[in-house]
Amino acid sequence: MTKSNLQEYKQKRNLDKSPEPQGGKGTSGSPRFVIQKHEASRLHYDFRLEVDDVLKSWAVPKGPSTNPKDKRLAIPTEDHPLDYIDFEGVIPEGEYGAGTVMIWDTGIFKNILEEKSLKESYEDGKMEIWLEGEKISGGYAMIKTSYNDNWLLIKMDDEKADARRNPVKTENKSVKTERSMKEIAKETGDK
Ligand code: MN
Repeated sequence: MTKSNLQEYKQKRNLDKSPEPQGGKGTSGSPRFVIQKHEASRLHYDFRLEVDDVLKSWAVPKGPSTNPKDKRLAIPTEDHPLDYIDFEGVIPEGEYGAGTVMIWDTGIFKNILEEKSLKESYEDGKMEIWLEGEKISGGYAMIKTSYNDNWLLIKMDDEKADARRNPVKTENKSVKTERSMKEIAKETGDK
């Protein structure tokens, strides 16, 4: 397995100064996902899916919706190492992506586009996945658009769809530590 697709990740960061993961191995079993609330220069939600040996990543400015009528912009970002899935903390000022990172939701997922592997559907720019998170669950479609190679994240119309929920607004604690963004931000930069 090649590590070269983490080159951009490593180039962008000074991992001696930032507490972010160096890039290690994940665990085997069902692929995992994470949605990290990231209060950088602009607040966004980083959506990351385990595909083979990396986390495919997108920045979703508005976060995921549970309403199938919403199309959420998902801007692709560099592959992240698998161990990034467990990262919550503060990226120091002056470093790439400086700001507070919360594990807003995480869990396992599966590919529901049966005729293709996850990697193939990623490369084709059309993924259908079933998420099993604490806040976000059910089918989601990820579709690559022709505009700047941006993607759209869309809730599929299934029993987990719920137009009345707005978890990005109402569910503001870490699923890992139950801390708020403020509480995470207070932690000192212990690396
Ligand atoms: Mn981010």
